[in-house]
Amino acid sequence: MKISGNILKMKSELEDVVHYELPIGDQSINMNALLGEHITLQFEGQINCIKCGRRTKTSFQQGFCFPCFQSAPEADPAIIRPELDQAHLGISRDMEWAKKYSLTEHVVYLAVSSGLKVGVTRASQYTTRWIDQGAIHALIIAHTPYRQLAGLIEVELKDHFADKTNWRHMLSNQIVEGIDLLQEKSKAANLLSNDLQQYLTEDNTLTRISYPVSQYPQKIKSINLDKNPAYKGKLCGIKGQYLLFEDQYVINVRKYGGYFLNIEM
Ligand SMILES: [Zn+2]
Repeated sequence: MKISGNILKMKSELEDVVHYELPIGDQSINMNALLGEHITLQFEGQINCIKCGRRTKTSFQQGFCFPCFQSAPEADPAIIRPELDQAHLGISRDMEWAKKYSLTEHVVYLAVSSGLKVGVTRASQYTTRWIDQGAIHALIIAHTPYRQLAGLIEVELKDHFADKTNWRHMLSNQIVEGIDLLQEKSKAANLLSNDLQQYLTEDNTLTRISYPVSQYPQKIKSINLDKNPAYKGKLCGIKGQYLLFEDQYVINVRKYGGYFLNIEM
C-alpha cells in the first residue's frame, strides 16, 4: 500500500505502550501496526508550510515558510524560551492565539529522557510533550496561570537542572539510572525564590511512559531526506518523535513537518 501527502508530527496517546499515528494528507497511519514491517519513505522535493500551506523551498523551525517563521505566533522565540513571552502584558504576534496558548495554565516539570531535565509546557498537553521528548518518567512540579511565569521558574532551575535532552542517549536507551524525581522536586522547591514558591504543586503523581521499541539502535545514523530523498528499512521502534530502524537509522518525523512524502508499506 502507498500513501502520499504532507506529513505532520506524530500524534500520540499515552497507553500501556504509547500509541502513535502519523498524519499524512487527510489520512493517518497507525505506526504501531507497522512495527517489524519494511517501509519506504520517499521525498520528491515538495514542502508546504504547516501554517499557511504555501509551497516553500526551505522549512524553518520544523515546518514554517519564511514569512510564517517571522510572523506566526507558533514560531515566536517565546515558544523555545517561555520566559520571553509577553502576552500577560498584552504583547504578542497574535493576541487571539496568545489567549489560547500563552494566557492559559502552564506546568513546569521534571522528566527523565536521557538524564534529568526541567521543562515548561501547557497544562492541557503535558503528556504529549513528555512523549515527544521520549521521557520515561516525569513529574509536574509547578502550575502557573500563564506561560511567562512558568518560564521564570524554569530559568531559576536551569542553573541546577539541564533543560535539554541528549537525543542520541534517549534513542539508544542510555538513561541515567537511579534518579528519584520526588527527591529532585524537593530540591527544586528549595532552590526557588520566595515569590515563585506559591506555584509549586502538592500533587506528586509520577507518570511512567513505555514506548513501542523492540530493538534500540546503538550506533545511531540519521536519515536526511534533503540529501537522500529515499529510504527503505525495517521499523523496529518509535520513541519521542523518532522512527527507529533495524539498520541503526533513525528519522526525526517532526523535522519533516510539511514535507510531501510517499510512504510505502
Ligand atoms: Zn507559511
